[in-house]
Amino acid sequence: MEIIKNVKGTHDIFGGESNSYDYVESIMKSIAELYAYNGVRPPVLEYSQVFSRGVGESSDIVRKEMYTFPDKGGRDLTLRPEFTAGIMRLVVQNKLYATNELPLKLYYNGPVFRYERPQLGRYRQFNQFGVESIGNNSAMNDVEVIALAYTILCSLGLEDVTIKLNTLGDDESRNNYRKALKEFFANHIENMCEDCKSRYELNPLRILDCKVPEDQEIVKDAPSIGNYLTEASKLRFEDVQDALSALHIPYEIDESLVRGLDYYSETVFEFHYKSKTGQDYGAVGAGGHYGKLMMELGGPELPGVGFSFGIERIVSVLKDDGLLVDKNNELDCYIMPLGENERLFAEEVAVLLRNSGGYRVDMCFDKTKVGNMFKRASNKGAKFAVIVGEEEAKNDSVVLKNLATQEQETVKLENIIDKLDEFFDSQEEETQK
Ligand code: ATP
Ligand code: MG
Repeated sequence: MEIIKNVKGTHDIFGGESNSYDYVESIMKSIAELYAYNGVRPPVLEYSQVFSRGVGESSDIVRKEMYTFPDKGGRDLTLRPEFTAGIMRLVVQNKLYATNELPLKLYYNGPVFRYERPQLGRYRQFNQFGVESIGNNSAMNDVEVIALAYTILCSLGLEDVTIKLNTLGDDESRNNYRKALKEFFANHIENMCEDCKSRYELNPLRILDCKVPEDQEIVKDAPSIGNYLTEASKLRFEDVQDALSALHIPYEIDESLVRGLDYYSETVFEFHYKSKTGQDYGAVGAGGHYGKLMMELGGPELPGVGFSFGIERIVSVLKDDGLLVDKNNELDCYIMPLGENERLFAEEVAVLLRNSGGYRVDMCFDKTKVGNMFKRASNKGAKFAVIVGEEEAKNDSVVLKNLATQEQETVKLENIIDKLDEFFDSQEEETQK
């Protein structure tokens, strides 16, 4: 029969790669917790309105990238293309802004779905980790979120991360800027791509994000936001830069950075990293400040700031730079019952080592030659073989064989965990030296 393949744009994560995702996500989570963030898990499915109102009608995501469908009850649903709007929905619905000290600090992690053309670093189902800090409008709140993201990337071993920084200003700044852009593009729009034509109508800021090379040539000469900022936005942006400098966080101002979602205002940023192979997977993460998002979703007018990492792209650059350890092939003990009668005792030994010892243990279930069992132990990367013969089972003991040194000894069951602890503790000390 013909085999069934995965859906275009999705990818299977298995073997050592699954551990890489666990590792990356656990570092992200533990650092977010140091910064006093708490986890949230909104559903994958939301009413489409959450995103059309939240992410915005002029964004690429809402215009063409959403997996939207009616369910059997005729509800208009969407698989989340990003987390922020869904989290705002969750916060508004559960009135978390009223029952918590602000800022409300939340982190999330999980799959998102976008109907895009699959290519290097671009999937239709991919994973994001991110945070939102809601209900505080100070520049320091933006800086802390950037510092958190930067700390995570450094902790993963990524040196020389580039932080691109820009401001979109407050409403007044953006209105002035939009007007200036409309004037500028009025003479060019006829010759630009269809997307840009509708962006011109819906939100001319989006044109700056166009990826078509001919359009980018035109965009180069467009006016820049810096000249249209209100005094308040200018000062706020200076505060952000001063604080980043004081924290020794490097950044580059990029006035063309507008970000693809409609809800951003004031500070916006992206994280870029070129792996040693020179592969460019695109931004590894991005985010910014938003003023009106919560209000758009029926809540009070509370601002927020957040970022989101693309886990696939981060795993790719870590892999390219040799910063991932393959933990798939690691086993502490492989248990080898030598005969049919020893199987039950061997299983008891396995349970003891796992449940009381906390060791990663596998066992041979097949009737096979001892030589084969040793081969399997070594293929599985076991440190110890635990051999259970007739004599041993009778005496409540096992033969413990160190597969690296080939040393072996008979150990009573009551002593086996101490023996293993002793070995693994001394090994840990070695590696710390
Ligand atoms: P891009 O400009 O690359 O399309 P974006 O601005 O749409 O990115 P965001 O919505 O800010 O991306 O999402 C945050 C992060 O998620 C990105 O910085 C990137 O690392 C990752 N990401 C975005 N789209 C994809 C995708 N299709 N496949 C894999 N990762 C993605
Ligand atoms: Mg995109």
